[in-house]
Amino acid sequence: MIYLDAAATTPVRREALEAMWPYLTGSFGNASSHHSLGDEAGRALSSARARVAAAIGARAGEIIFTSGGTEADNLAIKGMALASPRGRHIVTTPIEHEAVLASCDYLLRQHGFEISYVPVDRDGLVRLPDFAAALRSDTTLCTVMLANNEVGTIQPVAELAAIARSGGIPFHTDAVQACGSLSLQVGELGVDAISLSGHKFGAPKGVGALFLRSRFTVEPVLHGGGQERGRRSGTENVAGAVAMATALEMSQGEVQGKAERLAALRDQLIEGVLANARGAILTGHATQRLPNNASFCFPGTSGEAVLLQLEERGILCSSGSACAAGSDEPSHVLLAMGYSREVAQTAVRFTLTDDTTKEQIQEVVLSVAEAVAAVGALGQPR
Ligand code: PLP
Repeated sequence: MIYLDAAATTPVRREALEAMWPYLTGSFGNASSHHSLGDEAGRALSSARARVAAAIGARAGEIIFTSGGTEADNLAIKGMALASPRGRHIVTTPIEHEAVLASCDYLLRQHGFEISYVPVDRDGLVRLPDFAAALRSDTTLCTVMLANNEVGTIQPVAELAAIARSGGIPFHTDAVQACGSLSLQVGELGVDAISLSGHKFGAPKGVGALFLRSRFTVEPVLHGGGQERGRRSGTENVAGAVAMATALEMSQGEVQGKAERLAALRDQLIEGVLANARGAILTGHATQRLPNNASFCFPGTSGEAVLLQLEERGILCSSGSACAAGSDEPSHVLLAMGYSREVAQTAVRFTLTDDTTKEQIQEVVLSVAEAVAAVGALGQPR
């Protein structure tokens, strides 16, 4: 089996598993308990918080642990928007993850917010003047993802955040896809909030974090016992936090060398597929894209049918975002980039893992050509 779906999820790193093990077994205490076992868990949580913060150049108090990327996005968007007295207007893009789009939609439906969607070009890039033009004196929050989960396009987030900052407007970025393969430093990005998800870089599913710059407050989304300094109630996932700290330190430490290696494999895959699979179109920006993302449309096929053919050949990948899998609707990302519904329905995404090899890519290129030809021959809708 060749797994090329790292954007959906990654296996847990052995080091992360070993780091979390004690907090699932002997040192299983509740971090809020007032006894020695609780204190031990509390210390582990504090240390994990400090390590996550250090890995991205933040302060410990600026890290709120969550259950994952979806919750971090909800907390950033609903929490920052509802806590801000600035107004009721949010600026985002039409290619965000559903966690962002649905949070904005909630604010529109339940709290009377207006949402502006800055268009993207054919490569999935936001243009700076379009973004600047969308900002208003009552804009409460901007939220633009760092890298897109379907097509891998990397947005000029530092430049966008600088524009927002010049208007005094807080800026959140969903870095869930970026944090496994790009260097993430809050100082360089200049953003006020960042969403992270552990299972995208070798921590288990069910743990994530929101970086929130210290001068901002959030209205909690989860109410209860007041954990995470009142910002996110619920018994802390100490073992998950420890695993996330370990995985984040490791993946951020490896980013430099890894990005070059992955980008070379990605380009080998892109060139091979474009040369060998009939009618293949690369989606997303040719160079400004995640080093592990190669995504295509194969007009005249059906993405789902190509996926099945690939799985028969031992290759696991995705038709776009795992979250939208199973739905017949074409990708909202590709539609926003200007692709027709017919072409958008033929999307296939390959996201490389840390273990992907050159030989595997050679095999995948051949299999993609065969799969596309097989689906074409079956007379799938054109
Ligand atoms: N944001 C982006 C860009 C994602 O790709 C995902 C998941 O794929 C999420 C948010 C949601 O993260 P989680 O699966 O941790 O809830």
